[in-house]
Amino acid sequence: MVNYQRNVLYFRNKEIMEQEKINSDYFDNPDVHYCDFCAAKMTGDFETLKDGREMCTLCHSTKLDTLEQIEEVYDFTVSKMRETFSIDFKDSRIRVQMVETEIFNQIKEECLVPTQGYDPMSVALAVPNQRVLYIEKGSPKFVTIGYMVREMTNIWQFLNWNPTEIISKYCGNNFTLVCEGMAVWAEIQFMYLNKGSSYAQKREIYYEKLYKEEKINQYVLGFKEYKELYPFKEEDTKLRKTPFQKFPPLKTPLKYGTIVCDFCQKILYKKGFQVLRDGRHICDTCDSTALKKMDDRFYQLYDKVYKKMMLCFNINFEKQPILSMYNTRLIARMAGKRFVPTPRFVNRAGAAAVRKKKRGNNVI
Ligand SMILES: [Zn+2]
Ligand SMILES: [Zn+2]
Repeated sequence: MVNYQRNVLYFRNKEIMEQEKINSDYFDNPDVHYCDFCAAKMTGDFETLKDGREMCTLCHSTKLDTLEQIEEVYDFTVSKMRETFSIDFKDSRIRVQMVETEIFNQIKEECLVPTQGYDPMSVALAVPNQRVLYIEKGSPKFVTIGYMVREMTNIWQFLNWNPTEIISKYCGNNFTLVCEGMAVWAEIQFMYLNKGSSYAQKREIYYEKLYKEEKINQYVLGFKEYKELYPFKEEDTKLRKTPFQKFPPLKTPLKYGTIVCDFCQKILYKKGFQVLRDGRHICDTCDSTALKKMDDRFYQLYDKVYKKMMLCFNINFEKQPILSMYNTRLIARMAGKRFVPTPRFVNRAGAAAVRKKKRGNNVI
């Protein structure tokens, strides 16, 4: 049994850490079971939880089963965060709550089917506006600290940042990237500087692997963005440059930020789209259905809309308009619009109705 009083931050001892070589292919061994909590390779016994997650014996021996234990870890984490990042939480009282796994998963709305590999699932969840931090009962201490740092970073952001400034600077699609990317960065940087460098390294490798395999989400892209601007320091020196000290925390345009199809609003990553001459982004799906000439498809579509409109609104057009097709530059000039597309969605009509009184033509 671990003494929580003396050994608040559990870390694998130096001997084990030195034996263990951590390379970028650390997670690529298909014959090994990985602990879904501390990411260790498990050679001996391990526990399989009800939901399928696998836990090593070391993690098992540091399970937090009472609220007192969790509160102690919370106090430790927050005071260490203050030290590590030179930040303050503005004296806000956070309510720490311990919840059973089933309820915790309902709160998180996360569903995961664990495999033999490393399938990390968060064991902490903050609801910043209610100042509540939920912790899953029975989580290993060490891993709980990591996720707490992440969630407390979200609370710090809530207390210190103005969300509208983030949205106007990076656009709404990148809001999660800016917030969660920093939370992942904080977790890893905290671990490097607080005797958890083996775990920090594994977490770093894990996120790099997700990026490389294009299992991309806002956490992964945010991680890349912050890592590049604030490289991880592995030695116990005072951190001079952190995103906690800088607002806005990232440069624009974002290097890994998302691109949005300017036609269907689908979120795109590195592939699967083209950039049009005027800078708009078009996804491959939209591109494959683009009307490029006045062929049968064009007239069929027009017919459909025309008939549907008459039917839906019970209206009649006096006479059928004459249809023409113009290139982008001309249609922009006719619509009198000039714009500079950004990586985000630009709401711009694809068709312009130009009424020429004399000839009574409608141009689509
Ligand atoms: Zn473990
Ligand atoms: Zn599209």
